[in-house]
Amino acid sequence: MAVAKKQTNVLKNFINGKWVESSSHETLEVPNPATGDIVATVPVSARADVDQAVNAAKEAFSYWKNIPVPKRARILFKYHTLLTDHHDELAELIVLENGKAYKEAHGEVQRGIECVEFASGAPTLMMGESLSGIAEEIDSEMFRYPLGVIGGITPFNFPMMVPLWMFPLAIACGNTFVLKPSERTPMLANKLAELFTQAGAPAGVLNVVHGAHDVVNGLLDHEDVKAISFVGSQPVAKYVYERAAANGKRVQALSGAKNHHIVMPDADVEKAVEHIIASAYGSAGQRCMACSAVVVVGDGESFVSQLKAKANQLTIGNGLDEEVLLTPVIRESHRAKVLGYIEKGVEEGASLIRDGRKEMEEMKSGNFLGPTIFDHVTPDMTIAKEEIFAPLISLLRAGDLDESLDYIRKSRFGNGATIYTKDAKAIRQFREEADAGMLGVNVGVPATMAFFPFSGWKDSFYGDLHVNGKDGVNFYTRKKMITTRFDF
Ligand code: NAD
Repeated sequence: MAVAKKQTNVLKNFINGKWVESSSHETLEVPNPATGDIVATVPVSARADVDQAVNAAKEAFSYWKNIPVPKRARILFKYHTLLTDHHDELAELIVLENGKAYKEAHGEVQRGIECVEFASGAPTLMMGESLSGIAEEIDSEMFRYPLGVIGGITPFNFPMMVPLWMFPLAIACGNTFVLKPSERTPMLANKLAELFTQAGAPAGVLNVVHGAHDVVNGLLDHEDVKAISFVGSQPVAKYVYERAAANGKRVQALSGAKNHHIVMPDADVEKAVEHIIASAYGSAGQRCMACSAVVVVGDGESFVSQLKAKANQLTIGNGLDEEVLLTPVIRESHRAKVLGYIEKGVEEGASLIRDGRKEMEEMKSGNFLGPTIFDHVTPDMTIAKEEIFAPLISLLRAGDLDESLDYIRKSRFGNGATIYTKDAKAIRQFREEADAGMLGVNVGVPATMAFFPFSGWKDSFYGDLHVNGKDGVNFYTRKKMITTRFDF
């Protein structure tokens, strides 16, 4: 692979078309999760840097909003080509800073490119509505306009896809953008900004300010930031939603998850196991759509033994190795938290039928944890209730579909849920009653594509309009109505 594993990048902020040092001079190291090698240092910027970026974005907005929509869209066509040309390089960067397997990273780049594809349709997406003759000689028309400066705050687990959920569509709709990427995976954001500039985006239209809480709070409090798109963990999502909304901003805050997969007695066991393994252990379980709780309906003996056998065969290692499925978690501190959950599961009486701590001890470096499975987990246990974000599956037992759906209903999260079955009646009941926003029928990761909303429910989402699809267009635009009398 082309990327040098020990290369260290000293990252800068990207403001008004230039790479600039943060005013804080404080930095954080970015280790490769698989090796511990430091691959970058990232500035922990201050509010003054946010002010600088927001001012640049505000200045750029004054002309960008007037650029004809097809012209804005043409920059996105060019961006699409550049991202496609750099597909492999972008995937390698993701592996380097996030640790996920190369194939997963390649898929992530593809999902990101699809968002640019969607945003390139801005001339159609931004069309308004009209009605000739709302009364005699009177017509009404609706036009869409951008909001102004948008702040985007993103998590570590999809350093390419999640920023691309946000800024291409926001900018195509005529807004300008300040992105605060995760300080744990900051390199991709700089590459995205570099390629966006090459695509012809004028200075100030997209800005990147690296850092942590101070940058986030700077965006949430800044009066010139008109809307906030956030993706991250539940407590932070709630905090961001409340603080930004209290400051009068439009907010969409995508949050944590606990996704249940129901395995019905008639399911194709081999296929269900294959999908659950890929969903729960791919990206080390660090996906908001990962399967983390499996509800086994009936005796499930064959399913549980095949699941365990498959988990035993998984290849663990550095994501750059093509054979590998199970990669490290993001930080040693996160692994320590997961170990706490494993101890808690044992303490609360669940049966640890596969203990991933074994592989952890075998690996010489990196934040690895082997595939872990708890059986006979009950809905009141901590490991059933909380998002763990690791290669850990909790198996719950249920007598029938009604009981399984009740587990989903009682979960505070509602991002995704899946059922494995061939029974049409069960599929329909699941579709109607599963209390989550993105459902899969025999699909392990039912994440929606760019032209549909990414549609979490309950504590998995705070706000009204979701990212992507028509919701995304509505979020990044405001509507103006004109009523005209012609017999004046
Ligand atoms: P995180 O909440 O730790 O960080 C997200 C962003 O918030 C980062 O940019 C971070 O710098 C900032 N942040 C963190 N703590 C903060 C604080 N106290 N005050 C202000 N800002 C703060 O999330 P993460 O660990 O990077 O990402 C994983 C989480 O994101 C998981 O919970 C996952 O489910 C969730 N996620 C959800 C979706 C979705 O679509 N619902 C998608 C991807 C990830």
